[in-house]
Amino acid sequence: MTQATAATSAGGFGSPCEWVFVDGEVVPDDEAAVSVHAHALSYGTGTFEGIRAWWNADREQLYLMEGHAHYERLARSARILGLPLPMSPDALVRATVDLLRRNEVRANAYVRPLLVQAGAALPVRMHDVETRLSIAITPTPGDYINPDGVRCMVSSWRRAPDVSTPNRAKVTGSYTGPALAKTEATAHGFDEAIMLTVDGFVAEATTSNIFVRLGEEWVTPPGTEDILEGITRAEVMTLLAEELGRPVTQRRVHRSELYTSDEILLTGTAAVVVPVVEVDGRPVGDGKPGETTQTLNQTIRAIGRGDDPRHPEWTTPVYDEEPS
Ligand code: PMP
Repeated sequence: MTQATAATSAGGFGSPCEWVFVDGEVVPDDEAAVSVHAHALSYGTGTFEGIRAWWNADREQLYLMEGHAHYERLARSARILGLPLPMSPDALVRATVDLLRRNEVRANAYVRPLLVQAGAALPVRMHDVETRLSIAITPTPGDYINPDGVRCMVSSWRRAPDVSTPNRAKVTGSYTGPALAKTEATAHGFDEAIMLTVDGFVAEATTSNIFVRLGEEWVTPPGTEDILEGITRAEVMTLLAEELGRPVTQRRVHRSELYTSDEILLTGTAAVVVPVVEVDGRPVGDGKPGETTQTLNQTIRAIGRGDDPRHPEWTTPVYDEEPS
């Protein structure tokens, strides 16, 4: 294995692994391509996932994190778009485990399943265009977002409403707004952007969900606030309620509540759990990463590595044998 130890590039990602799954076959990375005429390149007509695999060096074991939940979301996304997904979530988990083995991944990695309109049709439509299903793997030797805390701005770009683009589906074309918001935030000297709905309520960050603590109460915007309902968001709601006895309230959140909050965290597969230490130049709480945020981040990473016995249903071991 050489690829999975490749050097870190921007955002904590290394170079892609050698073998890629494409429509049921495993092919070398440079053969896993679509044409410049692909419908999805012009129109963003596709859906995808991002899944983590955590490496445990002591056990020499790799764990696929929440594979079933991610592929079930891919199946829902495909249903919303009306695209045929030729494999079941279970079969996709098995294909991913096989691909991680084939690439001999022995490092933290990011798995990118992608279902796109790869046909050359020019008319804009969802029907009658050939689709392609691929799974690619990229090592993640570094952190996607600074785990010590991020400084956010509320973006001038709003989340597209569900009446314009389906937010429950992880659609390739719907990332233009978040990309503009991230670049706007970076240009203004911030690390990350928080996006509002068109009605002006807090939705989420560019590629992560948001949780806010006001006193003892944790709140997060509900699925009807034009968010992508994150898998890590569900994990955090479970851990806060079950392990820390702090049920999360799902309700609309005002921008001004960000300014009066005691703790804010972002959740996402790539980010895991990241503290927000500042919003629009105002410190969150005392301006230091929150204690609960750090506990949640460590717990999810430990569960992912198989070092914490809670929620074994979230992980799938990739290699057969574990040394006793
Ligand atoms: N919102 C958006 C727009 C995202 O792209 C992501 C990353 N998939 C999330 C939220 C967080 O979702 P998850 O925890 O499933 O990665």
